[in-house]
Amino acid sequence: MLYIVPTPIGNLQDITLRALDVLKNCDAVLCEDTRRTQILLSHFSISKPLFRYNENDDFSIRRCVEHLQAGKNCALVSDCGTPCISDPGWKLVKEALAVGVKVTSLPGPSAVACALAGAGITGGAFTFLGFLPRKPGRAAKLISTAYGVGNPVVIYESPYRVVKMLGLIAKTLGPQTPVILARELSKVYEEWLRGTAAELEANLAKKNKVQGEFVMIIDRPHKEQPDDNADF
Ligand code: SAM
Repeated sequence: MLYIVPTPIGNLQDITLRALDVLKNCDAVLCEDTRRTQILLSHFSISKPLFRYNENDDFSIRRCVEHLQAGKNCALVSDCGTPCISDPGWKLVKEALAVGVKVTSLPGPSAVACALAGAGITGGAFTFLGFLPRKPGRAAKLISTAYGVGNPVVIYESPYRVVKMLGLIAKTLGPQTPVILARELSKVYEEWLRGTAAELEANLAKKNKVQGEFVMIIDRPHKEQPDDNADF
């Protein structure tokens, strides 16, 4: 059996009781990075064989699938949050399903859900793009197509590119486009920045160094917002 196990995106107390139970009782943990997972497991006094999987290395995936085929119960984790959500893991899940291994997916931390819930802008549809392509032209096209659907757009972004990305949003969708930045969710320096793309770009560009992890939510201007809570 393969258990997909979400892990905290910052605050270690966010691990679920069920995730701990699976990690304690499984035969092996399949992970993105053995060092990072070892730190997590040690924090909870769990000791398990760790096997690294790498989406670009078929051998590593085959080795993990062989453990599962041999009847082992394995937990699949990524470095943070939910595996397979802008993280490796999906190829392993696909291969496991293809050879008849039972797969179950535990609910738990994920930055996209955490940011969207705290943003207070929709209880309905949104478009999640994960990480955008590095090439500005391709990124702009994706943003514009996704925004055209009419729902808020959620992007994962690194601190090194967040100012550039705000600039790209301002250029592509207009400088007055409302944006919410959820920074360092669940951590000591958690911060929510709200403003137009141009304002946030200018404010962050003033800083010597932009740090932390960001979820970026591109909102609709107020008058455009659908009453998407009407069904609740
Ligand atoms: N699998 C993870 C999930 O379920 O959210 C996402 C992993 S992805 C490699 C890492 C990205 O998630 C970061 O670049 C950032 O955009 C977002 N992220 C992860 N932790 C975060 C946090 N504590 N605060 C804000 N964003 C976070």
